[in-house]
Amino acid sequence: MRKPIYLDHSATTPLREEVFQQMVQAGQLFGNPSSIHIFGREAKRIAEAAREKLARAVNAPESSIIFTSGGTEADNLAIIGAALGNADRGKHIIISCIEHHAVAESARYLETLGFRISRLPVDQHGIISLDDLQKALAPDTIIVSIMHASNEIGSVQPIAEIGKITKKRNIIFHTDAVQTLGKLPLDIQENNIDLLAASAHKLYGPKGIGCLCVRNGVRLQPLFWGGGQERGLRPGTENVAGIVGFGTAVELAVKDMTTVRLRLELLRDYFLSGLQRRIEGVVVNGHPYTRLPGHVHLSFAGLTGAELVKALDGVGIAVSAGAACTAGQIDYSPTLREIGLIPELARGSIRISMGRETGREAIDCLLDKLPTLVQSLRQKNAAGQ
Ligand SMILES: *Cc1c(COP(=O)(O)O)cnc(C)c1O
Repeated sequence: MRKPIYLDHSATTPLREEVFQQMVQAGQLFGNPSSIHIFGREAKRIAEAAREKLARAVNAPESSIIFTSGGTEADNLAIIGAALGNADRGKHIIISCIEHHAVAESARYLETLGFRISRLPVDQHGIISLDDLQKALAPDTIIVSIMHASNEIGSVQPIAEIGKITKKRNIIFHTDAVQTLGKLPLDIQENNIDLLAASAHKLYGPKGIGCLCVRNGVRLQPLFWGGGQERGLRPGTENVAGIVGFGTAVELAVKDMTTVRLRLELLRDYFLSGLQRRIEGVVVNGHPYTRLPGHVHLSFAGLTGAELVKALDGVGIAVSAGAACTAGQIDYSPTLREIGLIPELARGSIRISMGRETGREAIDCLLDKLPTLVQSLRQKNAAGQ
């Protein structure tokens, strides 16, 4: 039997061999980076080299990178940390209605502490309106948090324009860039980003390590209390091997970003043109071109996303029904409601996310299997009614 095909890169990515090798080497330098002896200094040196790589990838000073346990913690530190650190200036926060749970739930928690949250709607392509943002601004707005690209539908938000608006009003701009670091160009200076969350395992690095990039001067209250590591914003002995893996992964991703991006954009076009020739009653969601490379979100009439994911899994093709963390729940994600999909189509949604190792053969195989599976599920469902 052929090897299973992985088309779920927005959920996580395989660890690159070069990254793993660097982590194995880092594992031998076991010292505590806070120790002043040679063992500590060696560990600190490799962690700082990785910090420099991350800083360079987003055009930020090294001192702005705060390592966390992943994207979720980085988003929590951004939203809750900035809210608590700036509560004397105001209690109003603006997010979009399609944020990842890490942002949406942090905001919900802040509501229980007395903060006001405005949730901006999106258009049918999943993009916020700058007009809505302007209108939502209040005298006591302290944070605007809009994700760079949606993990679900892949749409990319106008972060440069958002950054211009927040800068003028002296409001903190946080962006969840977990899906875009290493895939699309990212420059915190150019876009006036104050806080940026990223995670290694979405860009071929290890799980359990991420970072928050904190622009100089942004007041943050830490979520954890302990030693003074990470400028006191994230105390605890550093995950040195993870940090080294993250640094290597981001450096490699940025190096071949343009090539991979162009190739995945062509592969997506190839898939969509093949799909539309073979299957009727399918809707392509998200923005047609302002989007993540190699990311496809589809809705099929007459079936559910979960049963199509199972059927594809049965023939050795791994895709996702909506966002990974909400799959398994009967209800579909709010994002799909927000972009105006009717419930039947929202329920029949799948996400196909290609990655740097995805070849044409994988897409040919998907194009070969998908029509029969869709047809038989539709027939089965129609007969059952
Ligand atoms: C995966 C993801 C996260 C969470 O990152 P973890 O490192 O898995 O905690 C946050 N935001 C977005 C957009 C994601 O895709």
